[in-house]
Amino acid sequence: MTGTRATARTTAGAVAGATARATHPATAGGWAAVAAEIGRCAGVRPRRDEPLSRHTTMRVGGPADLLAVAHDAARFAALVRFARGVGLPHVVIGRGSNLVVSDAGIRGLAILSRAESCRVEGNRLIAEAGVPLARVATLAQRAGLSGLEFGLAIPGTVGGAVWANAGAHGSDVAAVLESARILRGDGTEADEPAAALGLVYRDSRLKHPAGQGSGAGPEIVLEVTFRLTPADPAAIKTRLDEIRRWRREHQPLNLPSAGSIFRNPPGDSAGRLIDASGLKGARVGGAAISDKHANFIVNDRGATAADVRRLAEIARAEVGRRFGVELIYEVQFVGDWSNWGQEER
Ligand SMILES: Cc1cc2nc3c(=O)[nH]c(=O)nc-3n(C[C@H](O)[C@H](O)[C@H](O)COP(=O)(O)OP(=O)(O)OC[C@H]3O[C@@H](n4cnc5c(N)ncnc54)[C@H](O)[C@@H]3O)c2cc1C
Repeated sequence: MTGTRATARTTAGAVAGATARATHPATAGGWAAVAAEIGRCAGVRPRRDEPLSRHTTMRVGGPADLLAVAHDAARFAALVRFARGVGLPHVVIGRGSNLVVSDAGIRGLAILSRAESCRVEGNRLIAEAGVPLARVATLAQRAGLSGLEFGLAIPGTVGGAVWANAGAHGSDVAAVLESARILRGDGTEADEPAAALGLVYRDSRLKHPAGQGSGAGPEIVLEVTFRLTPADPAAIKTRLDEIRRWRREHQPLNLPSAGSIFRNPPGDSAGRLIDASGLKGARVGGAAISDKHANFIVNDRGATAADVRRLAEIARAEVGRRFGVELIYEVQFVGDWSNWGQEER
């Protein structure tokens, strides 16, 4: 199942990417014309050929044909609507902390989620999609609200965290999310209760656009509302300090990575299985399996995306061979991977 899901996503990205540069109608007038049109329709001037290694925590990834930064929810929605409207392939990127972008990069438009307005109302914390999870954890602590402590060391946005149902330290987004404002595939916006978003272990409805029915594109989180519990700020701070300490001790935070490469299989841990396969320290090019945490691949010597992916595939194959466990990717491979198979041969 692992391989099937990962391959299906990658293939879809590769196909979209391959068609975009050469023949896509939106690019018939050239990327400069598309960029100008985006400026008119969404009020954002995109950058051309922006290296995505600058926008991912793994620090790999080739250029996006265009990259537009959405600094508020209205522009975010306008960019997505524009891309859908003209059929321009597009990818939303939060902090890029769960992504491995191909070396060939992303054909079409990358939309960087940087809408970062945030407020506390009573026991609720309301944040636009681009607010870093660590920031909401800190703001909640200062407001004497508990529940978001787990997010302190997760280097993503709240939008990306809903997409993944990110979690750690015994909690996750599902435990505190009250509702989210969603830009649906059909272009309408709706406040949806958390219960409607299909939040289970590292998964949500948003990860499965094919199941959404409209065929018009993936759903986008524009804003989230967390419902929290009043608590003593000093006690919350103690918990935050514990989490910070634990992370420093157990994870290679000083090196670029995308966090856990694989989901934990039921009743076991991917890191334990990779470690038991003798792969700690294994390397492909500039990428290595971390000595500190075997489910982390670190980019310690100027890795390419292909290095990272090859190493991950080696780990997956070895764990499968030794333990009969098929690891499922937690990271998402995005962009144009069309030469990936050829490189492998
Ligand atoms: C050092 C490190 C530690 C980590 N620890 C943890 C951990 O403990 N627990 C955990 O769960 N994860 C962890 N992660 C992984 C990652 O931080 C989370 O998955 C995070 O939620 C990803 O958010 P992002 O904004 O970076 O999303 P990105 O990586 O930018 O994007 C991931 C996916 O989310 C989609 N997306 C982003 N924003 C939106 C939006 N507004 N609407 C719809 N879709 C959107 C993107 O299109 C993409 O498909 C870790 C990563 C690192 C590097």
